[in-house]
Amino acid sequence: MKEKGYAGLDYFRLIAALLIVSIHTFPLISVSQEADFIFTHIIARVAVPFFLMVTGFFLIPELLKGKDGHKGFNALGGFLKKTSLLYGVAILIYLPVNIYTGTFKDKLSVTGIFKAVVFEGTFYHLWYLPASILGALIVSLLFTKFSHKLVLGLTLFLYLIALLGDSYYGLTEQVSYLKGFYDILFMLFDYTRNGLFMTPVFLALGGLIALSGKKYTIKTCLTGFAAATALLLTEGSILHTHQLQRHDSMYLMLLPCMFFLFHLLLNWRGKARNILRSFSMLIYIVHPMCIILVRGFAKAVHLTGLIIDNSIVHFITVTAASIVVSAFVLLVFYKKDKDVKKDRAWAEIDLNNLDCNINEFKTILPKSCNIMAVVKANAYGHGDIEIAGELNKTGINAFAVATIEEGIRLRKNGISGEILILGYTFPEQLYKLKQYDLTQTVVDLDYAEILNVANRRTKVHVKIDTGMHRLGENYNDIFNLYKIYECKNLIVTGTYTHLSVSDSLEQQDVDFTNLQIDMFYKTLENIREAGYNPGKIHLQSSYGVLNYPYLKCDFARIGIALYGVLSSENHKTRICVDLQPVLSIKARVVLTKEITKNESVGYGRQFTADRKTRIAVISIGYADGIPRTLSCGKGHVLIHGKKAAIIGKICMDQLMVDITDIAEVRQGDIATLIGRDGTESVSAEEAAAHSGTLTNEFLSRLGLRVTRNYINNACCTNKSRFAINLKNSLTSFKFSIKSSQLFSIIRE
Ligand SMILES: *Cc1c(COP(=O)(O)O)cnc(C)c1O
Repeated sequence: MKEKGYAGLDYFRLIAALLIVSIHTFPLISVSQEADFIFTHIIARVAVPFFLMVTGFFLIPELLKGKDGHKGFNALGGFLKKTSLLYGVAILIYLPVNIYTGTFKDKLSVTGIFKAVVFEGTFYHLWYLPASILGALIVSLLFTKFSHKLVLGLTLFLYLIALLGDSYYGLTEQVSYLKGFYDILFMLFDYTRNGLFMTPVFLALGGLIALSGKKYTIKTCLTGFAAATALLLTEGSILHTHQLQRHDSMYLMLLPCMFFLFHLLLNWRGKARNILRSFSMLIYIVHPMCIILVRGFAKAVHLTGLIIDNSIVHFITVTAASIVVSAFVLLVFYKKDKDVKKDRAWAEIDLNNLDCNINEFKTILPKSCNIMAVVKANAYGHGDIEIAGELNKTGINAFAVATIEEGIRLRKNGISGEILILGYTFPEQLYKLKQYDLTQTVVDLDYAEILNVANRRTKVHVKIDTGMHRLGENYNDIFNLYKIYECKNLIVTGTYTHLSVSDSLEQQDVDFTNLQIDMFYKTLENIREAGYNPGKIHLQSSYGVLNYPYLKCDFARIGIALYGVLSSENHKTRICVDLQPVLSIKARVVLTKEITKNESVGYGRQFTADRKTRIAVISIGYADGIPRTLSCGKGHVLIHGKKAAIIGKICMDQLMVDITDIAEVRQGDIATLIGRDGTESVSAEEAAAHSGTLTNEFLSRLGLRVTRNYINNACCTNKSRFAINLKNSLTSFKFSIKSSQLFSIIRE
């Protein structure tokens, strides 16, 4: 089973950071001038474009997702805020050095400061931060105004201007009107390597790669990368030998080279390494400081001959120093920022586990059968946009929703692929189907006729009722079915039925299901024989797949199991699946208190202490979706890895638990209602069973007040207890890092 984080990108961040260190330390210079040029001035030039592409890759889809709301601009705002803060901190860190070396002396005019802060960076390596800010602003503006192609064209044009003032300046100079143009440019800034000309194209490229969702095989990527690198080296060498370069930070061939390199890295999926994001950014920020420190140190101990003059040793020393300083900063912040997160009640939604479940089903389903992800009811409480977005990324291109509003919401947020509305849509709303490219279920012949006159051409799936007696035209009324297929204005892209007892392995239920299956396939045969095309065929939901996996069809409409749980603890299934629960629910201990024997707790005084009892008030209640039926000891929460029973009646916004036996509980501690804490866990199935319902109902009722926090860093291949424990401690480690305010700004 595959894990799905962008491990390749995360690891390469570290390599890219080291390449940037090498740009500033010339590791090969004492070996050979030529080797140094090739390595430092050509190869290492992939580092900056790489970081920019990563930014574009994550930022642009977020930006466009929110086209209709504010979310997209929040993403941009978040990035700008983070990067400016980081830039501000970096400026301050290097200010003493600036003052000491007197770099500002001749720049202390308003324009001088503006130029330094906006284009050049106040210290030589810091140009990247303002350049990524300016570039992100430009690219965001372009993406919201123009087509993708035009964005690419415009940013390429800017890059061309950058190139002609950089590696190709020797040629530019010879054309007088170009030279005039660049003379003006170079009055405004020292290099074209800035946020106006250089960074937009790489940000856009990263964004376009994410938006297109295209994947290339490793072979294609390697071939393309090798060819582009060969051309890049040739280009760099020619420009160098003819002394055409004014500066050497950009090449034409960097574009294809980066395209293939980035796709190659995208192929490397695995556990995401969030920590490397902060780490590589820190190395980038601190390495010039380390160069200064290493020089100072070498002078002090009279070892300049070894440490400074030998470029390889110099590079290694600076790298080591940068790593040590960065690790130290990470460690300090990690300690300080433990437990910064103070949500009242929240759900942690592990998208990696979602990917694992998808992969699990891919191995179960016949090759020809695709997953139609059921994301109705806010994706069973998990957040429909985020879930469908993640599924889109993993290549799922069919979704099912219950209502037209749910379908429109997905479309407005950039979800691609087929979206089937499983429920009834009122005639007044039918005109929207086409506008949002949604597929409507035909619930019977009458409805088909309404659809047929309402719109010119409507994509539909025909539903056949084989015994569920909910929606669908009766399988017996074969002539009615024919009439549906005859409707001129209906584009029938699929035909389906729904099984009513596929979750049960009781003989009579299995018999009934087999009857439904037989009737469905017989009806399809009739439809085909009569000359109609039923389109894509589907009939299984989660249990349909788990108990009848062999059925020949085009889609499986999987809902509950995608989220890593089954409807009930009691269901046995023919196929064993290894599902990873996607959702956990957590809340806080907001108060602890002690009551004496015979005192009662909560509404209706349903709990009376039979001993001196310590209780904790937890910040979650039935308005958040915790069923009131879990009151009075039916349910429990986990605190510090131990069970604490719910006592008294659950209130609308709070509930009380008994913590007499968990001495270490303090205000602010986390209470886990669903999920794992240490070695203990509460499954959604278990909680649903205790409250007398199905997991489906429990999850889909999760309240709007519960914030959804998406995490993407868990690992799902190792199933041993050791691995699980390690995973959990790592997750909580990362989570605390993630939650830290300062840390989020160090991350790219
Ligand atoms: C909800 C629903 C599903 C998904 O069912 P799960 O049991 O959650 O997998 C599939 N088909 C139809 C028609 C549904 O209404």
